[in-house]
Order: sequence, then structure tokens, then C-alpha cells
Amino acid sequence: MGRFAPTPSGPLHFGSLVAALGSALEARCHGGRWLVRIEDVDIPRAVPGMAEAILATLERFGFEWDGEVLWQSRRTGTYGAALERLKAAEHVFPCACSRRELAEVPDSALARDGSLRYPGTCRGGLPPDSKPRAWRVRAEGTIRFEDAVQGWQEEDLFHDVGDYVAFRADGMFAYQLAVVVDDAEQGVTHVVRGADLLGSTARQIHLQKLLGLPVPAYAHLPVATNVAGEKLSKQTLARAVDEGSSSSVLICALGFLGQNPSDELNGASVSEVWAWALGNWKMGRVPRVLQLVAPEFSRS
Ligand code: GLU
Repeated sequence: MGRFAPTPSGPLHFGSLVAALGSALEARCHGGRWLVRIEDVDIPRAVPGMAEAILATLERFGFEWDGEVLWQSRRTGTYGAALERLKAAEHVFPCACSRRELAEVPDSALARDGSLRYPGTCRGGLPPDSKPRAWRVRAEGTIRFEDAVQGWQEEDLFHDVGDYVAFRADGMFAYQLAVVVDDAEQGVTHVVRGADLLGSTARQIHLQKLLGLPVPAYAHLPVATNVAGEKLSKQTLARAVDEGSSSSVLICALGFLGQNPSDELNGASVSEVWAWALGNWKMGRVPRVLQLVAPEFSRS
């Protein structure tokens, strides 16, 4: 069982289409179901109407998902129950630190992704007269996993990541918690997504273990970038995929994923491209790199 889990903060761009296509083909080629989940757990970041626009774009590109779309914004009760389980087992601790206080800690170590690593201020208990703002997971142990595209990965959670947030100071559940609860509840066995999330995977496996949830197999596809090497996103002003030329964009996405789409597909319909893709998909052909320039930029 696979899934595509877009965050509705911007339109579907080439990079998100690649993640949708790779996850759908991997699921279908193994006779599996393929689900779509709208990751609007960060409610203020979700742009009204964007989720519906993403679903309509997927349909125009010939994607067919199984069952109902799951909306994270409707599932806060379920995430709350998971947080209570983590609290009861003392896997999480309350944290009173503000962003500014954390930024001011002298000589703070950096996490592997370059962000400030939590310096451990509230790990042993809240400072007197302080109010809990967030809940953090105690980062402990080393997580190893084999990614189907990127190979073996290893992260020492305490040193490389630090105690990470499960419930945010603004009252929202963290993506890391929501994603593992949803993947388990939806029975997802194969997570195929962009390599920008490779660095989140150790935290997710850690949470799966703490909550007694199954650990899915992971495959992280190269992230599509512009010529400056920046991930296509709302911030880098990535344009929405062109629905007017959906079959040629699908062919480009197959090429990006190393599938060598046949020249005979030029001028084919969306359903002909899908038929070719379903008959020829091989995860083993996906380039084993973290990022690649999107074809819309590499064309002259
Ligand atoms: N919602 C995440 C994103 O759009 C993807 C999460 C996932 O696939 O686990 O970047």
C-alpha cells in the first residue's frame, strides 16, 4: 500500500508530480492500493482551496486513488491520543523554551540538517515558573534503515537531530507525529516521496517504535530543483504543472525518474502514457541522487 501526501500550501509543481507518479507506480506495479492524504495538519499554512485544486490536477493527469482522501486537519483527536500515549510513557517532555531563547543559547550545536539542535534546557524538567509551550520527544538511540533509492542511512538521534517537537508551541501537532499515525492507520507499507524528507525518516521510525507501529519500507526520490539547485516550491516560485500538456509532462516525469520513456510515446494520450508506465516501471532505474534539475529548467 502506497500513498501521496501533499501539503496544500502551493499548487502541484513538477517535483510533487514526480512524487505522486513514483509512489503510484510503485504501489500499482506491486498490485497494491494507492491512497492520497492531504497534509494540512499545519492549518495556518494550508491555502484555502489548494487541496481541492491539487486533487483536480491529479485527476487531470490520470491519477486514480483508492478510497476516500484523508484530511489531517480533521484528525486532531487521533493525534492527541497518540501524544497522550507518548506522555504516559514519558517519551515526551514539556518544553517552555521560546524560539528566541533557543536561538540565544551560546555555542548551540547544529543538527545534521544545519538547524539549531535543541540544547536540552527542559529535558530534566521545566524551569521554575515557566509554562509548557511545546512537547518534545526524547531523542535517543541510533536509527538505521535501507532506503530503496538512497541506500543505507544511519542517524544518531541525540547528536544528529536532538529532542524534536511532537506538539508545537502554536497548538498544532507536528508533521512528524501526524505522518506516522496516519501511515500506520492507513496501512501504508511503502512510503515513496521526495528526498527532502530523507532527514525526517529517522524521527518517523523512532516515533513508530515508541508507539509500537509498523515501520514501512522507504524510497526517497530525487528532488526536482531549479538551475540554482533550489527545491521547486512556493518559496522558489515554482510554477504549477501545465495541465494543458499533461501527457508530455508525465513523460518528462518518467524521464526524470530514469524510466527512459519510449519515443513512441510522443503525442500519446494520458492513458497511453499510464499504460506504458505501468508496464515498464522499475524503481531500480531511479537515479540514486538526492536532487536533479527539473526538465523545465534544463531545456534551452
Ligand atoms: N506533506 C509532505 C510534503 O508535501 C510529504 C510528506 C510525506 O510524504 O511523508 O512535503
